[in-house]
Parts: sequence; C-alpha cells; structure tokens
Amino acid sequence: PAPSPASPAPHADLAAQLPALREQYAALQARGLALDLTRGKPSAQQLDLAEPMLALPGEGVHTDATGVDVRNYGGLDGLPQLRQIFAELLDVPVAQLLALGNASLTLMHDAMAYAHLWGVPGSPLPWGREEKVRFICPVPGYDRHFSVCEAFGVEMVTVPMTADGPDAEAVAALVADDPTIKGLWVVPTYANPDGAVVSEAVARRLVSMPTAAPDFRIFWDNAYALHHLTANETKTANVLDLAAEAGNPDRPIMFASTSKISFAGAGVAFLAASPANVGWYKKHLAVQSIGPDKVNQLRHALFFGSAEGVREHMRKHREILAPKFAAVSRVLTERLGDLGIATWTEPQGGYFVSLDVVPGTASRVVELAASAGIALTPAGATFPYGRDPRDANIRLAPSMPPLAEVEEAMQAVATCVLLAAAER
Ligand code: PMP
Repeated sequence: PAPSPASPAPHADLAAQLPALREQYAALQARGLALDLTRGKPSAQQLDLAEPMLALPGEGVHTDATGVDVRNYGGLDGLPQLRQIFAELLDVPVAQLLALGNASLTLMHDAMAYAHLWGVPGSPLPWGREEKVRFICPVPGYDRHFSVCEAFGVEMVTVPMTADGPDAEAVAALVADDPTIKGLWVVPTYANPDGAVVSEAVARRLVSMPTAAPDFRIFWDNAYALHHLTANETKTANVLDLAAEAGNPDRPIMFASTSKISFAGAGVAFLAASPANVGWYKKHLAVQSIGPDKVNQLRHALFFGSAEGVREHMRKHREILAPKFAAVSRVLTERLGDLGIATWTEPQGGYFVSLDVVPGTASRVVELAASAGIALTPAGATFPYGRDPRDANIRLAPSMPPLAEVEEAMQAVATCVLLAAAER
C-alpha cells in the first residue's frame, strides 16, 4: 500500500509564535485574575430562582396531600406527592421510585456499600467476599464515580465514550466472559463531562447484552435528565422498561436529584429500579433510617406543584446557563478554531464542556492557567485514578462564574492551550 502522506504538523506554525505567546501569557499573569472553572456548581443567580422555597412549607403547613404529618417519623419511600411529580419526569412508575435524602451520590455510594456487604438480588456472594470486583467506567467520566469505586477497592476498566454514550460494543465484549465485572457507570443524559446522550440503541444493547456475572448492575446516573441548554428537551431512553423487555429487569438502578434544579446542598435525591432492587435497597435503608426529610420534600412539592412546574423552572436555569456555554464555544472557536490543536464538545445540556488539547499538554495547560489565576479541574480528573493516559482531556465548568468572567477565563484558557502547544 502507498505510504500515507505525513500528517501536517499542527503546531509547526505555533512554534514560531512562541515569543509572542509568552508575551501574551505574561500580560495575562500581570492582570492578577482570580477565576474558577473547576466544579459544576449552580451560580447564585440560579440558586435565587428557588429562593421562595425557603419560605415553604411555612408555619402551620405540615401535612402532605394525604394528611400525613411530615414533621414526624416514617414514610421511608418519600413523600408520595413529590414521587408522583418526579416519576413523570424520570419516566418511571411511582411505585418504583424512592425520594430520599439530599444527594444522589449518597445513594450510589450506599448501593455500592450494600452490594459489598450483602450482595444484590441474584448475587452468588456479597461483592465484598469476591476475590475481585471490577466496574466499567466510560471515559472521560465523573470523578466521584471513580472515588466510590476506589473507596471499595473496585477495580476500574475504561471504555471510550461516543456521541451516543458508552461504546456499547466494547462494554459487551468485556462483560461477556468476565464474571469479575459487576457493573457499569452510565450518565445517560448530557454526560459529565462530554455532554453525550445515550441513544435508544445503546441503551437497548446495554440492558440486553449477555453478562458473565449473574448480578451485573448498571448504575444509571441520570443527574442531568432535565438540564437542557436548548429548546430541544431530549427524552432519556426508558432504561427500566427496556431492561424489563430484555428479560433483565434488575440490571439498571437509576439515580437522580434536584441538586441542580432547586438547591445543590438542600435538594432531594431519587432512586428508581425494578421492584426487586427497590425492595433490596429499602430493606437495607430501613436499618439506617426511619424516613427521609419529608419537610424538605413537601417544600419541593409545594414549590414545583407539578412536573410541568419543574420543566418551567428548568427553562429559567437554561436562560442563565445557555449564554455561558455559548461564550465558551465562541471563544474556543475564535481562538483555536482552525489550528487543529484542540477539539471540544458543544453540549446540548448538562454542566460541562470537555476540551481535548494536544496530547501530553493537558496538565501543562492546567498549570499555566493556575499560575495566571484561573482554576481548572485537575488534568486527569476525568479518568480513573486521576490518570489520563494521553494527558489530553480538560473538563470545563462554566456554570458558576458570571458571564463576563466565563468569557475572561476562556480567553485565558485559550492562551494557555496555545502556549502549551507551542512549547512542544
Ligand atoms: N452525578 C453526576 C454525573 C454529577 O455530575 C453530579 C454533580 N456534579 C452528581 C451525580 C452529584 O449529584 P448529587 O448532588 O445528587 O449528589
């Protein structure tokens, strides 16, 4: 075969610009900026959208729609009124949806803990008594999923993300004959960090593929189910129905929360799964709690009123967030667009932009940014054990700073990406 033409050296021109870029960077440093694009937190302006909730339920209002006194013990499943609203939004039966504490991360951690201590329905052994337990982590992914695995000594195996979610064929090949692989993390809607949405075909493949482990679970973390950045309000594949149709009803466990709907620190988290999984989770939960914070759940139910109330509320978040994401895209396109040294996602929802820079320079970019007063998520954070084998991926989180600061921070990031590429 004819030798393929040498690929153009994308940063040959950049090397010539090194002195100019160094000057640009020095000027940037001299500005003494202090900007932060590290974590996907809602801004104060977004939190203010739910401010009236702080006056709810209000003195004298302490019964739910069925007359239950929310101040007292009980109601392990969560407030029926609120479960009704979120069952519609998450497209699951109310009876299979629990409304619990303030963080879905707790529920994921506890599901992993219960599985280790007692096994899940269908487990030959508690996972903690198995010689080795492994989980598949699509990369780039969410660092706290990796932390949960690390805490339990669960080995992480990576597969690439695609525009339609995890590479389903790679997942299917891994699980087919390796019984140590007990699970898979999936962020089905507007994934952290690359914004991918799992297609119906990928969802179907993941719930129907044969697995060597009889107790294989998909931790379906639907953290951004309702967090659209455009008028196209994508509907997530109905994983519980698809799994039941495929004869694997117990495979997925869905998690979600209102952390980025109401208050990040004082929202409500949800778990949805098959009747067997929900029964399993509740059995163990009942030992640690007599019931969740129903006062907070009532406050949420009264504030939103209905599923449409939540959708309306999310449109207000979108008005605040969409311009920030547009700014990220515009600056990256203007500064790096034609150079062939970086690619980035244009998410249609969620909280992140995934930026890939010249391999081998991501940590240098983050370091340069830090020295210029711009805090970025550490390079490698989107990979298990903090190790990005290509040192190329950087997660950008533009939600928190005001719009003008997002622009300023992104101009700085672009300068750092250019300088790091030119230095090579
Ligand atoms: N899952 C994903 C994918 C997330 O990005 C986040 C927040 N950064 C969470 C879960 C955390 O959710 P919660 O606040 O409900 O614990």
